[in-house]
Amino acid sequence: MRVSHEPVYVYRRRRLGAALAVAVLGTLAGFGSAEVADRMLGGDGDESSAAALASSPSASVAAAQAEPTASESPTASPSASPSATAASPSPEPSPAEEADPGFDLAALSVDDPASTWVVVNKLRPLDPEGFAPEDLASVDGVGGGARMRADAAAAMTALHAAAEEADAGFSITTGYRDHAFQSSLYEGYVASRGRSAADRFSARPGYSEHQTGLAADIRSEGCDLEACFASTAAGVFVAEHGWEFGFIVRYPAGAEDVTGYIYEPWHLRYVGVELAAYLHEEGVATLEEAFGLDPAPDYG
Ligand SMILES: [Zn+2]
Repeated sequence: MRVSHEPVYVYRRRRLGAALAVAVLGTLAGFGSAEVADRMLGGDGDESSAAALASSPSASVAAAQAEPTASESPTASPSASPSATAASPSPEPSPAEEADPGFDLAALSVDDPASTWVVVNKLRPLDPEGFAPEDLASVDGVGGGARMRADAAAAMTALHAAAEEADAGFSITTGYRDHAFQSSLYEGYVASRGRSAADRFSARPGYSEHQTGLAADIRSEGCDLEACFASTAAGVFVAEHGWEFGFIVRYPAGAEDVTGYIYEPWHLRYVGVELAAYLHEEGVATLEEAFGLDPAPDYG
């Protein structure tokens, strides 16, 4: 079996290598210095490099190629774990594997922006749109100086400590972003690239999970907001163990038609341990599917 797969992996690697080479050229040609500086400052709006590059005509082919191949890189790499999403089953049995058949999916609101289970997507803006959480706290012990809601911040500190212990440390690019910041970020992208291009990688104000205080973008080994993060030690660790601390990879591979975003292995969403464990045990990849909500591939 392994021998028969090798040509496929070689082919994928070649495609990925070619795509990355073109992507680098696209980056040099397509980004102004202000945009590069913005990215370095962590001013993303649920942005991925592939989506951002796609807005540059010269790199659109590279981005189209890079998306599927990059998403498959964890399984193609012999050193990476086969698990790349929060929904992947853990190879080791744990007590939590025995799912509670009576799990109550209506226990918390998915509409209340202050609910740990709130579902925000391109069809479900925060209500009110200017919502701001009242219990923001700094995420202690994790580089980046981010803030999240108190429970999420404490869970992130614990996840980070466990990751460090496994030599899979990470820092945070951005946690909470308020409505005004998201607005200026999004409008900046609209001004420079047009609305339809901006919508591919930047959430409109009021539609970003970062505004709930329950989401954070994490980074390591130079993979900042890029699919390569999935193959880093940190990316593998949080995909396998994030649920134990109440986190899910909110935008898993292959779920763009449901979530509205391409694979973002760096974007972690806190939902609490009970729901995260349920999703893990049941193999449910997205919040939309878990709660029976409409897919949100685009704004309505
Ligand atoms: Zn994000």
